[in-house]
Amino acid sequence: MTRRGALKASWLVLGLTVWLSGATGVCAADIVGDIVALQPLQPHTYVEFISVARELAGCDRITAERIGYTDKGRAVVLLAVHAAEHRALPPSEHPPCLFIIARQHGTETAGTEAALALLRYFATTRDEVSLRILQQLTIVMVPMANPDGVAASTRRNSANVDLNRNWDTLSQPETRAIAEAVARWQPLAVIDMHELPATSSKAAFTQNFVQTIGYDQTVPQWVSADCHICTLRIADWMRRYDLPANFYYDQSNRAKTLCHRYFGLVCGIPAFLFESKTGPGHGLDERVAFHVLGTLVLGNHLIHSYYDKDRPTETPVMAAAPSPAQRTAGYTTPASSAVQPPHETPVPATPLELHILKPADGATVGGMVRIVAQATGDGFSYVTFSIDGALKAMTTAAPYTYILDSEDYADGEYRVEVALCGDVGQPVLSKACVLTVNNSLRGR
Ligand SMILES: [Zn+2]
Repeated sequence: MTRRGALKASWLVLGLTVWLSGATGVCAADIVGDIVALQPLQPHTYVEFISVARELAGCDRITAERIGYTDKGRAVVLLAVHAAEHRALPPSEHPPCLFIIARQHGTETAGTEAALALLRYFATTRDEVSLRILQQLTIVMVPMANPDGVAASTRRNSANVDLNRNWDTLSQPETRAIAEAVARWQPLAVIDMHELPATSSKAAFTQNFVQTIGYDQTVPQWVSADCHICTLRIADWMRRYDLPANFYYDQSNRAKTLCHRYFGLVCGIPAFLFESKTGPGHGLDERVAFHVLGTLVLGNHLIHSYYDKDRPTETPVMAAAPSPAQRTAGYTTPASSAVQPPHETPVPATPLELHILKPADGATVGGMVRIVAQATGDGFSYVTFSIDGALKAMTTAAPYTYILDSEDYADGEYRVEVALCGDVGQPVLSKACVLTVNNSLRGR
């Protein structure tokens, strides 16, 4: 069975206990804090990155490979971290893998730093849980996808091409090299790491976000289901780590020029765009933590979905989150001893209520349209927003809001559905309203 087939098969047998195993299993040390602590004070230059890659290549848990050259002759380097005994294996014989691409835009530093910190950590750790992760998952990375852009401090490469608008044609040596490497490694999922400018007029860009592949008739259902359930897990852990984030979904009508859409919508690989917000109050520590945490949650999900048929569900692979108080004091490392789940006394549930506060049912709208819902009561973990049945966004933080840009829609009538979902994404209560988009109202 192919890896993708195996993932699909294991998806079918997944039950609730699997998804709760992070909470009910034995908790490990704060791996996220340990990894974030490994980043340098200043982001790596290209020359420093090459020197780190050379140093890492000497570790028995690292495989390094030059997968291509830029137009200016700089190397595009792939680094894989794996169990030491897997070092000599070709990609096809490795355990399932997660493929990370960082810094297609030369000025966006946090992805590279997260990738290098992850590599350093897994290359040297003696933590039992982390070693178990490496036995089950190989993490493959291109930490610096745009070396010429990094060297010149530009978003684009030396041919003045935006690499993350190049995945439909693969006309650039950097995107071609990465696409070929992904084809060889056949990952279970791809992450593309980016950063958001401090100031942006786009409503979707106000804070960290994750964008992935949503339900669509032309997308294999297991791909969108896998992307969605994993996004729910990421949202849950981001909340525990006090890292605010939004979550968006792409359908197949979107342009395939972006990396995560190419891998998700064209290649059928679950794919995720991670965007960390930059600017005042968003230090490199916090931005790197966002990428590292997202990566670990996705890795955790892949391990469970790939192996759980044969393994006990309490297999611990996720770190214990620090409390918000610990978080503000810096990333802490709690003792790595086993923690038993607390016995919870059942409290009477408050009935669920859901209202769509804005806009009014039947409204005619144009421009940036805020859809705001109010939800109270117990028994939901996530709030989703769908337009005409297509999942568009998910949030965990009140006020539950999705900003619809009418430019993405032709004039006409649309059904907006807001749903409260349980722990594994199952809708428990939903409300709908009808909107008429009239783009001539834009900018008024
Ligand atoms: Zn970017």
